[in-house]
Amino acid sequence: MTTIAAKLQLVHQRIAAACTAAHRGVGEVQLLAVSKTFGPEAVREAHAYGQRAFGENYIQEAVEKIALLGDLPLEWHCIGPVQSNKTRLVAAHFDWVHTVDRLKVAQRLSEQRPEGRPALQVCLQVNIDGGPTKSGVAPRDVPALAREVAQLPNLQLRGLMTIPEPCDDFEGQFAVHRRTRALFDELRDQGLALDTLSMGMTADLEAAIAAGSTMVRVGTAIFGSRVKPTGA
Ligand SMILES: *Cc1c(COP(=O)(O)O)cnc(C)c1O
Repeated sequence: MTTIAAKLQLVHQRIAAACTAAHRGVGEVQLLAVSKTFGPEAVREAHAYGQRAFGENYIQEAVEKIALLGDLPLEWHCIGPVQSNKTRLVAAHFDWVHTVDRLKVAQRLSEQRPEGRPALQVCLQVNIDGGPTKSGVAPRDVPALAREVAQLPNLQLRGLMTIPEPCDDFEGQFAVHRRTRALFDELRDQGLALDTLSMGMTADLEAAIAAGSTMVRVGTAIFGSRVKPTGA
C-alpha cells in the first residue's frame, strides 16, 4: 500500500472511532481530503483508494489542478477565502463553497454559476470564536445572512463551516464546536433545511465529530505536512 492509501485508512479509522464514541453512525460523517499545495498526482492516488471529495484553498492553484484531473469524477470544494474578483472562477469550477461570509459574494456566485450546472452547494463560514484576524460571519449575523442566501436561485445553502483557533485539548476544542452546533440547530429550528456542519481538521476531528460535525476537512493526516502555502 502507498503512503497516501495507508494514511487515508488511518483517517477513516479515526473517523469511525470518533463516531462510535459519540454514538453516531459512521456514514454520518464525510471526509473531505484537503489537497492544497499537493499536486494532481497526489489527488489521483487518493482517488484510486476511494476518495472523491477534495478541498482547495487557493483558487488559481485549484483551477489548474481541476483541469488536469478532468478525467476523474471528483467533487471539488472551495475552502479558502473568496474575494469578489474570484467569484466567477469559483462559480465555474467548484461544486461546493464552504467560505461564504457576505451577501455580495453569495449573490455573485449565484449570478455567475454557469447555466446547466447544478446549484452550487454552499456553507456559511462562521467566526465562532471571534478570532480578530479571521474571515467569517459573526454568529449573531448568521441567521439573517442564511435566510438571504437560501433565497438565491443558483445556490443551495447546506450549512455552516468554521476554522476555530488551534487548541490542544479535546475539551476546549469540543466547547467551541458545540457552539457552532447550537447555532446550526437554531437555524434548523427556524425552518432552514440544512444538513452540513463542516468542522474538524487533522488536529481536532474527534472533538468536531463529538459535537456533531458531518464533514471533516483533513489535509496533513492524508497528504503529509505542507511545505509552504502557495500564494496565500
Ligand atoms: C488547510 C485546511 C484544512 C486542513 O488542515 P489540516 O490541519 O492539514 O488537516 C482544513 N480546512 C481549511 C479551511 C484549511 O485551510
